[in-house]
This record gives sequence, C-alpha cells and structure tokens, in this order.
Amino acid sequence: MPTNKKEKLSGSQNKKLETFATLALIVFALISYLISTFLIKKDRRNISVFVNGVQITEVNGNKLDLNLPGTYTIGDPNTEYNVIEINDHRVRCIDANCPDKICVSHGYLNPDIDNDIIVCAPHKLLIQYQ
Ligand SMILES: [Zn+2]
Repeated sequence: MPTNKKEKLSGSQNKKLETFATLALIVFALISYLISTFLIKKDRRNISVFVNGVQITEVNGNKLDLNLPGTYTIGDPNTEYNVIEINDHRVRCIDANCPDKICVSHGYLNPDIDNDIIVCAPHKLLIQYQ
C-alpha cells in the first residue's frame, strides 16, 4: 500500500477513498458469502455414521444419505438404540435410550462448523460429515 501517496490526498479525497474501500470490502464479503453458500449447497458433503468404530451405510436396507429424507433406528430398540432423522439435507438424533441424551440435545449436525460431530458415547455412535 503506497501510504505516502495517500498522505498527499486532501481530507475529502481521503474520505472518499475510505468510503470506497469500505464499500468494496462489503461487496467483496457479500459476494464471497453468496458464492460459498451456493457452492456448499451444490456440493454438500454426505454423512458418515459409525457404531463401535464400524461404519453403518444403511439401516434395514435404506441407505443413509443426506439426499434421502427419513428416520432410521440404529441399534436394537430392546437394548440400545438411536433414532436419527435426515431431513432437508440435514441430520440429527431425535431419540435414544442412552442415559445422558447428549446425542439428542446436539440438534442438527452443522455443516458450517468444522468437524462438527454428533456423539452418543454410551452407544459408541458417531455421526459426522464425510
Ligand atoms: Zn446418546
């Protein structure tokens, strides 16, 4: 940045330059945000579900895929289970019979948070983006 040139500008020119720079920054940030939002929606990652360190790709013949809405019961309803819901390209755990229910209180897995993960420690269940 040629600061000596900027110092030679008059006060009003300086103000104009600052206003222009601020506007340019705002427009740039807005465009970046729109592009990243659009790209994330277009190229959204899918999810991986692990139970006991083993990846689960389907439940009762139904593929676990963010493009396929539905509710899926993982585990055995008579012993340990988690019910996960895939809806609008999002995933969350809506029910479980674990004692802490941390998995349920997590809510939707957030694609904007790096390495966001739904954990059910008692049932050794992990849900994360691929
Ligand atoms: Zn849990």
